[in-house]
Amino acid sequence: MKKPPKAAFKGNKQSLPSKPCAVCARPMTWRKAWAKNWADVLYCSDACRQNKHSATKPNTP
Ligand SMILES: [Zn+2]
Repeated sequence: MKKPPKAAFKGNKQSLPSKPCAVCARPMTWRKAWAKNWADVLYCSDACRQNKHSATKPNTP
């Protein structure tokens, strides 16, 4: 009896929740580190967290 190939689980990643960063609007994929505070995660990185005041402004000179 052969087991099915692991490729069958290829779609697992896409089942993870995701949401856009409040600053750069890039999609943030759920991380295990965020499991306990996923609802509070608004920014994809510390850089975006510090740029939150410019969230409503487009990044134009
Ligand atoms: Zn961001």
